[in-house]
Amino acid sequence: MEKIFNNTEVAFSLKSDTELERAYFLFKLIESQPLVRIGTAVTNFALKAHLPVEGLIRSTVFDHFCGGVNEKDCLSVVDKMFTKGVSSVLDYSVEGKEEEDQFDAALAMTLKTIEFAKERLAIPFAVFKPTGLGRFALYQKIGEGKSFTDEEKAEWNRVVARFDTVCKMAYDKDVAVLIDGEESWMQDAADDLVMEMMRKYNKEKAIVFNTLQMYRWDRMEYLRKLNAIAKAEDFYIGMKLVRGAYMEKENARAEEKGYKSPICPSKQATDENYDTAVTYMLDHIDHMAIFAGTHNENSSYQLMELMAERNIAKNDSRIFFGQLYGMSDNISYNLAANGYNVAKYLPFGPVRDVMPYLIRRAEENTSVAGQTSRELDLIKKERARRKL
Ligand SMILES: Cc1cc2nc3c(=O)[nH]c(=O)nc-3n(C[C@H](O)[C@H](O)[C@H](O)COP(=O)(O)OP(=O)(O)OC[C@H]3O[C@@H](n4cnc5c(N)ncnc54)[C@H](O)[C@@H]3O)c2cc1C
Repeated sequence: MEKIFNNTEVAFSLKSDTELERAYFLFKLIESQPLVRIGTAVTNFALKAHLPVEGLIRSTVFDHFCGGVNEKDCLSVVDKMFTKGVSSVLDYSVEGKEEEDQFDAALAMTLKTIEFAKERLAIPFAVFKPTGLGRFALYQKIGEGKSFTDEEKAEWNRVVARFDTVCKMAYDKDVAVLIDGEESWMQDAADDLVMEMMRKYNKEKAIVFNTLQMYRWDRMEYLRKLNAIAKAEDFYIGMKLVRGAYMEKENARAEEKGYKSPICPSKQATDENYDTAVTYMLDHIDHMAIFAGTHNENSSYQLMELMAERNIAKNDSRIFFGQLYGMSDNISYNLAANGYNVAKYLPFGPVRDVMPYLIRRAEENTSVAGQTSRELDLIKKERARRKL
């Protein structure tokens, strides 16, 4: 497959020189793991103490990784990216809430983003997190096979109703909806619920998408089982394929509680597992749709290759590539320039509420995780090209 991701002119075509410098400065900062750790602690403290740090966060890490504080704020970014063929997924990135009114607010926001998506070609998907619509502990209790009190039963029924409201509206408006994957000890309950939604709303095509985190060694078996059910019951499978964002947490919990870690034994094993899932989905693409959420160049090339081998059009509506806003523009913009479907998650929300999301991004971009050096190299290359 022709290597296309090194074209920095295309990758940064929307960035002015100043914006390019800002990105360089930011990645330089978060390259240092100790700095990220200290920065995270200081920022959390400052926010809790109501110190006026929001402006500083906004002008640095927030503006780089987020579209704005509300959905309307994001529209200028959405329109700008779409001039280069890159779509957006508006991602209400408020996390860790535990109250009913907060779940209802997240529901209302998700419905709003479906409306937005309905009106705009540039927004092909809506997205939500299972724990955005219900308490983590409830999912966990189901997963552990524990029974609910009457009160919890009523609470869970409200979670199911919220899922159904989103998926029904997605179906009625013909907007696909991605449902994020989270920690393994709550995911079983979410998987069952999402399958229920697929059964109901994926009769004609994939509207509801679950997420498979391929750092889990049990996910291929899950996908095969789901496929057997979908075939028997005649519904489509929509699946976002990612590697997974909670590896340290998963390993730490497994060690602490003394069970076998659900995570693959090595990065290579995760990579192979991811590639196996991509191939499997393409082998069954007649009743599946795939959203490949990855910043991994090899995985992206592999999917491009598989599509070419099978004579699948680059813009086949069943296949999307996805990256996060503020990362791997070299993949997103070059894919779009070459005619593939690409969408970037565009997070938004009040600054203090999106901090857990921003901290995850900063952590995964330290030099240890290895992303940053690539981002920095690409920016340096583009700087040099512009000087010439
Ligand atoms: C559009 C989009 C949507 C996403 N949605 C979700 C989501 O719903 N849920 C979620 O959990 N994450 C999600 N992510 C994040 C994703 O799971 C990864 O954390 C992130 O994309 C990095 O993986 P990668 O494939 O891009 O690349 P790479 O940099 O090649 O892979 C890094 C990943 O490999 C795995 N890994 C690293 N070291 C090891 C090791 N020693 N052993 C085993 N595995 C290892 C980890 O998963 C790590 O994150 C999403 C990412 C994108 C781009």
